[in-house]
Amino acid sequence: MCGIFGVYPHKDASRLAYLGLYALQHRGEESSGIITRNGKKTYLHKNLGLVSDVFDEKIIRSLRGELAIGHVRYSTRGATNLKNTQPFYVKSKIGDIAIAHNGNLTNILSLNKELQDKGAIFQTTMDSEVIAHLIAHSPDRDCKGAVIWALSKLQGAYSLILMLNDMVIGARDTFGWRPLCLGKLEGAYVLASETCAFDLVGAEYIRDIQPGEIIFIYKDKIESITPFKKTPSAFCIFEYIYFARPDSNIFEHNVYLVRKQLGAQLAKEYPIKADLVMPIPDSGTFAALGFSEASGIPFEYGMIRNHYVGRTFIQPSQSLRDFRVKVKLNPLKGVLKDKVVVVIEDSIVRGTTSRGRVRALRQAGAKEVHLRVSCPPLKFPCFYGIDFPTKKELIASAHNVEWIRDFIGVDSLGYLSLDGMLNSMPLPRENFCTACFTGHYPNGDVSHTSGTLKINNLQQR
Ligand code: 5GP
Ligand code: MG
Repeated sequence: MCGIFGVYPHKDASRLAYLGLYALQHRGEESSGIITRNGKKTYLHKNLGLVSDVFDEKIIRSLRGELAIGHVRYSTRGATNLKNTQPFYVKSKIGDIAIAHNGNLTNILSLNKELQDKGAIFQTTMDSEVIAHLIAHSPDRDCKGAVIWALSKLQGAYSLILMLNDMVIGARDTFGWRPLCLGKLEGAYVLASETCAFDLVGAEYIRDIQPGEIIFIYKDKIESITPFKKTPSAFCIFEYIYFARPDSNIFEHNVYLVRKQLGAQLAKEYPIKADLVMPIPDSGTFAALGFSEASGIPFEYGMIRNHYVGRTFIQPSQSLRDFRVKVKLNPLKGVLKDKVVVVIEDSIVRGTTSRGRVRALRQAGAKEVHLRVSCPPLKFPCFYGIDFPTKKELIASAHNVEWIRDFIGVDSLGYLSLDGMLNSMPLPRENFCTACFTGHYPNGDVSHTSGTLKINNLQQR
């Protein structure tokens, strides 16, 4: 997963990119980067770390020009190192190319091989570098033609923001797995993964970039084309369940409201008598609100989250078991003692953190713990940009609900049904990719790409 942002032409381009990335930080915490251009020269700054660590006032001022694109990274492919940070920047025969990519290409191995056979030398292990090579290798020397040619070679998920000399380009694959929105600010066009970035910079949302659409933003005009054969839409349903920020609109609908609806549906599917409904914060909060509203069971915070927990804190000795769980979420004994509690989680991936949290709730005095999950069992890996582990590590791929209930240690466990999830969506069900639940991959057999998937630890929400 990644967050991407672009703006052109605006006199405060680098600062807007900084703010935009700040709003999109939840989409990637490994590295941050901004590239700008002032018509003559290109300026780039990127590093491992959060946006607020990588940039300061001096750096933002040094990134000159009215054009900026930025990226925050959560790697789904390629190791976490400085070389693999984005925007990825190269000089080529058609000029300066920079790429900010969100998604995961499914034909990367064959593209890589094809290019290497032609003599290409790769510096990184990122999909994005392949896109740059393709643009540079295009038989079409015209910038627009080169981009169309390059994108026509790609399979899989991409929402892209490119800088090509003095032009910003936004593009989305024909399935539309990952979001990408278009906005406007004081005569400039703005592109961002989610609308929460527009809210922060004060841009007005215009519309989503459509699946298969390429937008060319020039200094004085904007141009839209849809050169590729149409395919069905396959919006990532997990963006609504977990990934996007609740204050964003993606795929033209508000994430918070969708999550509440998922919670309400969950309450319908599993009527229960309980003293309180509580979320695992923050990601479970919105479905828990919906659950409470629909069931009439009071909503409480049974755990309080410490928001200052970063990725690097000093670990205590092994003897302090469950420290990782406790440092982040502290159960409220006064709320939980002797209570029958319904706990709402947005999703269960490996089951290990849920297990620790449930244990903490019991230690705090909860009499019964009933876990409800606002999506169906996650059984299949994602090849389109969500960092789901291999099948082996997804607890629901090998085990049934009863086994998982016992492993996590709850009195009952209920997952939302596939139909319940799809019917809670604000768009018709045919629009969504549900591969992680069903194993149906919208662009055919992509299992051969699994070898390079990498697991990593975004700070859990
Ligand atoms: P588990 O109990 O399966 O170990 O962890 C479940 C938790 O992981 C849930 O709170 C959920 O919000 C969170 N989660 C879901 N998807 C992702 C993801 O892609 N990355 C990370 N880091 N956490 C996730
Ligand atoms: Mg969570």
